[in-house]
Parts: sequence; structure tokens; C-alpha cells
Amino acid sequence: MCGVFGVFGNGEAANITYLGLHALQHRGQESAGIVTSDGEQLHAHRAMGLVQDAFKQEQLAELTGRIAIGHVRYSTAGGSHLRNAQPLAVDYAKGSLAVCHNGNLTNADEIRAELEAKGSIFSSTADTEVLVHLVARSKEIAIEDRIMDALSRVEGAYSLLFLTEDSLVVVRDPMGIRPLCLGLLPGTRDAHVVASEPCAFDLIGAEFVRDVEPGEILVLDAAGMRSLRLPGARVERHACIFEYVYFARPDSQLGGRSVYEVRKELGRALAREAPAEADVVIPVPDSGVPSAIGYAKALALPFEVGLIRSHYVGRTFIEPQQSIRHFGVKLKLNPVGSILKNKRVVVIDDSIVRGTTSRKIVKMVRDAGAREVHLRISSPPTEWPCYYGIDTPTRRELIASSHTSDEIARYVTADSLGYLSLEGMMRAVAACGERGEGDAHPGGGGFCHACFSGAYAIPFQPSPSKRQLKLVGV
Ligand code: AMP
Repeated sequence: MCGVFGVFGNGEAANITYLGLHALQHRGQESAGIVTSDGEQLHAHRAMGLVQDAFKQEQLAELTGRIAIGHVRYSTAGGSHLRNAQPLAVDYAKGSLAVCHNGNLTNADEIRAELEAKGSIFSSTADTEVLVHLVARSKEIAIEDRIMDALSRVEGAYSLLFLTEDSLVVVRDPMGIRPLCLGLLPGTRDAHVVASEPCAFDLIGAEFVRDVEPGEILVLDAAGMRSLRLPGARVERHACIFEYVYFARPDSQLGGRSVYEVRKELGRALAREAPAEADVVIPVPDSGVPSAIGYAKALALPFEVGLIRSHYVGRTFIEPQQSIRHFGVKLKLNPVGSILKNKRVVVIDDSIVRGTTSRKIVKMVRDAGAREVHLRISSPPTEWPCYYGIDTPTRRELIASSHTSDEIARYVTADSLGYLSLEGMMRAVAACGERGEGDAHPGGGGFCHACFSGAYAIPFQPSPSKRQLKLVGV
């Protein structure tokens, strides 16, 4: 649950990165940071909070140079502190290095313990720092070789940007779990940008070139751009399905598929699998909107905006503290009485995690006068934690891991509850886009759906109290 953005070869690298991060704000609201290189040294600024609050004009002006990387963060591993804000920047024997990471390394604890035993000192609790140590300790000479050497040790999900004095190195893990794409700044043939999602390119007028391939390394330096492969890595696509369900912005195109169209198709599929007799369909804004449109259209029911979202609060779930999250539902949503009064209402949301949000929303809709409230979810029950960079709680806290659909319906006080099946979700995603990620892997391959199925692509021994630090409440 982070966003990364990078620029190579533009005198306004810091300003462009600032705008790129702004467009990726939905991927993390805890901290923001930019590191630039002026060709000789790196300049860094990181702060807690939203992009627009983290940077003042004077601070951006000090971030000089033609290469930049930036990051918006919500912590999945490592606590909520400025020292964990990214990009991380260090000086080591061979020069300066900065790195930012979207994803989660599943063997970071083991490598960290090993490095600490050898005398390494860590300044943050973020798993990304092990990469910096591994790059610094590598015996290779060229930066891309040092990075490849370091990556041969780590497992997990990573979309990474490395910055040195004179280069930008971009890496996507061999399973392509987290998204990453390449663009070109307007009017140039060699000033490249990279971003977690292409919606960041639209804001700066950059042209979308392509997705960075799973297992690909792009090296951008004075010699131009080279594409290399992670040596020895078994490339097998497992793009995160939850990016389509909830996380990515609907105006992004991931793996050749429009996120908006996928969500609409999920809604249509949900209507086929779990129709409801109702007077009106309303979305939980914003993530439920395209699916609600698809659902309403498929059943020829009126679609209405029955819940109004305040745009001046962030995604409530992203707030680190339990108390703030609960308060947040009311801060964020308010019902429209005239739409709901005396109606049989279908409420469409993308997922149920703990069930606390749904419970409040159902109550809110009923209190506004709805006669019946039917909750429909445009994905399967979320039963398993994500260890690849999406912030989900431990298994125990996921309501669907220990409760049936009927029990959850009772808990959230809905008159009925319907989820989309795993097969229905996979079919809906496959139906969108001709050249999408996963097409080369018939039979459901190509996507990671571990949060719904428990089928983790990377086998490892989870120690959730460390990996899901924040949400376990340790
Ligand atoms: P809960 O109250 O825990 O059931 O939260 C469910 C709500 O959180 C749904 O409305 C989703 O849109 C949203 N959601 C689901 N997964 C995540 C996530 N990983 N990060 C932030 N929000 C999420």
C-alpha cells in the first residue's frame, strides 16, 4: 500500500514527482518523500502526512537535479514514524543511494537478523532497509549488478526505484505483484517517468509507454535506457487482483485492463450471482461506484448516489489508529434521505475486511429510512491476510475467516448479504481487456488472489506479529 514515482532527465524532476505523488495519494497517506540527484549529490525531503502538506515551495526548490524518485507510504511492515518514511537515502563506500519500495519482502526479518549478526546497524524498521544494506555490501561494481545481487537474496513483492548520483534503476518483482508502469514526458524521446499507476502520467501530460514487466530491471543513465532481466528468477505473473477490486484508481489502466471497466464487470457478475429484489442500487463511494453501476444496469434497477462522501477526509481504513478509523465512517459518509426513505436498497461495496465499516453503513442507510438493506460485495470473502504489500489485518481479525455469510449478514445487520464468487471474479477480470496480465496463464493463473483463496504464491513461514505490525496492535 504505497505509491512510487520516478523521473529521469528533466530539470523539473522534483516538481514533476510532486505532481505524480499527488495523483498516487490514494496509495498511502501516512508520509511522503522525494529524493533528487543533481548529478553529484542527492537531496532529500520526507515528512509525515499528505503530499500537499509534506512539501512547501521552498523545500521543492531545494530538491535540485534532473533525476528524482518519490514515495507515498502507508506502512505494512515497520511502524508509523518519520524514520520509516521513504525514499530511504544513504551514503556508503561507493557513493550515495536512495530507494523507494511498494510491496513487502517476505524474508526481510530473516535477512535483517543475519545482517545484524554481522554488525549492520539499521536506522528504520522498514523491510526496505535490508535492500540498502544488501546493495551496499555487494561485491559487484556496477549499480545494476549490485542491485541484482541484493535482489537475489530477497523474496516477496517489490516495485522498486533506486536512485544514484547519475542513474535511476527501476525493478518489478518476478511475479509482478504490485503494479509499475513506464511513461515518457511530453515532447521528449528520452525523459522517462515511472509510476505505480498510469493515472499519475495523465496529470503531468506524460505518455503511457507500457507496464514494467515482471522480473524486469530498467537502467536509465547517460547511456540511455536498458532493459535487463533479474537473473535466475522464475518469472510467473501473479498481479494483485485486489488492485482491480479496490486499491488502484479507476482511471488507471493496469496490465492492459481499465480498472473502471473491471469494476463495472465485477458489478455485472455480482448481479448475476446475487440479484436482489430492490427499488434502488447505491454505491459505497468511491470504490463501490463502478460496480454499483454495473450491478444496477444488469438488473435494470435505478442507480442513485445515496451516500455522499466528504472529499476532505482520507480513506478511513488508512488511518493508523483504531479509534480514528471508527470515527471516520461518519466523518466520511452521509446518507441522502430522499433517495433512501421507504426504499428497498441494495448497497454495493468492494470488500468486507473486519465488517465494522459495513455495519455502520447499513445502520446509516436504515436510519435514513430504508425499508430493507441488501449488502452486495463485488469480491469474494476476504479470508486471508496479504503479505505482499496490501495492508490487511491478521487472519483472526478478518471476519470472513471465521464467520459464514449468514453470520456476517447478521453482524452487519443487513437483510441479506451476497458476495461475488472467486470464479466469478476471475471470469469478470478475464473478460476485460484483450491483452491483460494473466492471459498467458489460462486456468486462473496470472493473478495473486491469496487474500480470497489463501493460495500464496511464495511459500514462507509467516510471523504476523512482525509483518503486520500496525494492525495487530503490538
Ligand atoms: P472493514 O470495516 O474493516 O470491513 O473495512 C471495509 C472497508 O475498507 C471497505 O469499504 C473497503 O472499501 C475498504 N478496504 C478494504 N481493504 C482495504 C485496505 N487494504 N485498505 C484500505 N481500505 C480497505
